[in-house]
Amino acid sequence: MQTQLLINGELVAGEGAATDILDPATGEVITQVNEASSEQVEAAARTSEAAFQQWSQTPPAERSAMLLQVADVLEANQAELASLESQDCGKPLASALADEMPLTIDVFRFMAGAARTQTGSAAGEYVAGHTSMIRRDPVGPVAAIAPWNYPLMMASWKLAAPLAAGCSLVLKPSELTPLSTLRAAELMHDILPAGVVNVLHGGGPTIGQQMINAPQMEAISVTGSPATGQAAMAAAAEQIRHVHLELGGKAPVIVFDDADIEAVVDMIRGGAYFNAGQDCAQPCRILAADGIYERLVGELQNAVASIKLGAQDDEGVEMGPLISAVQRDRVAGFVDRARQTCEVVTGGNKVDGAGFFYEPTVIADVDHAAEVATNEMFGPVVTVSRFSDAEQALNIVNASSYGLASSVWTKDVAMAMQMTSRMRYGFTWVNTHGVGTPEMPWAAMKGSGTGCDMSVYALDAYTAIRHVMIAH
Ligand code: NAD
Repeated sequence: MQTQLLINGELVAGEGAATDILDPATGEVITQVNEASSEQVEAAARTSEAAFQQWSQTPPAERSAMLLQVADVLEANQAELASLESQDCGKPLASALADEMPLTIDVFRFMAGAARTQTGSAAGEYVAGHTSMIRRDPVGPVAAIAPWNYPLMMASWKLAAPLAAGCSLVLKPSELTPLSTLRAAELMHDILPAGVVNVLHGGGPTIGQQMINAPQMEAISVTGSPATGQAAMAAAAEQIRHVHLELGGKAPVIVFDDADIEAVVDMIRGGAYFNAGQDCAQPCRILAADGIYERLVGELQNAVASIKLGAQDDEGVEMGPLISAVQRDRVAGFVDRARQTCEVVTGGNKVDGAGFFYEPTVIADVDHAAEVATNEMFGPVVTVSRFSDAEQALNIVNASSYGLASSVWTKDVAMAMQMTSRMRYGFTWVNTHGVGTPEMPWAAMKGSGTGCDMSVYALDAYTAIRHVMIAH
């Protein structure tokens, strides 16, 4: 198993403390990975600055060709990468392979194309005797921080866009789930010039904090919790840096009376419990119109109760454990506190035995201001609340501190257009939820972050608009 870090094109053992990497389905240690030492973080930051000089000057077509090679090598090794991911996160192996690897790989292919689309918007004589041009240039080395829910897919989003833009980087996967990213680093290390990508391992408040404060880093890119986003903004405020944040979510699902209830139930059963609910776009906050509330709760109860829990390779497994005992107990705490005022219609218990399993859970009769309706739980729990009219639903969802994913379910196109135009969320689906594609932005508003991953707009975070003027 590859447990080394990537610094300046070399695979090296971490010189910091050894950390246990657990299998969440059993709680047992899979392997140990040594954290980076403080000196190794400094070396990675220095080497990424040196590599930036060359990478930023590499023509887009050459950068593009290397990104395509990275996609190819990930694709050729996708079975192994999915297996590592599944072991490290506890998620079903079939899902890691079929649901996560295609987008992980395709983001590199999309960004290989996007690398060649960057242009300034104008050239002309705006002052007599002077020609101005607008350039879009890479900002500099990037400190990139990734979470544990989709470790390799999130790492690929953190890597592909800055590389396409011409930036070098230092990337840190979550300390809980480094295995797939470390193996990917090994696979790509002889494709990219030394120092263009550096991959470290270690804790957030230690290694991550040192990375985002390193003087060589010109941009900070975080996918993670709001608290980590705040740490990134605080670090950026010290040195005045670019910040790109993809943070937590609490996706509302607004279901009108005329919605296709069967489709809603199918989507929630599949989407809200996918990855054990540890998904920033999880359709977890259901707002049901008065006329269909009872039916929706009843059908959800039956559908969710039939979800099959199990370990990675179990026959027919649909949902794995949570990432850690801490995360499972956090989710259990939310549900236990909610019992006093709401009805747990299915689930609501830790599963006995080894591993960090929690039952797929539906909570009904949830007040719009309740803790479970307004806080990201990041677990297999869905809440259902009532609403009476569109204006009320709009006010409720726009009052959320989050602004990432959302969806509206209705057959009335006019209603869908009115709702989607006024919802303050980075993305809003109509009659579907959770479908992503590299051409389109995965965008954040409000407390869910700034900017977006995927699409050509992802390059905005890693490029700066410049004016060059020539007197003649
Ligand atoms: P987390 O914030 O605890 O950790 C994310 C990363 O940040 C880890 O690598 C961690 O080591 C690092 N980190 C923590 N503190 C840090 C600090 N002070 N300085 C630098 N780095 C630090 O998040 P998590 O628990 O790994 O992931 C779950 C969160 O991620 C959820 O809130 C989820 O919604 C969010 N998420 C968002 C998206 C999105 O696209 N918006 C995608 C996936 C996950």
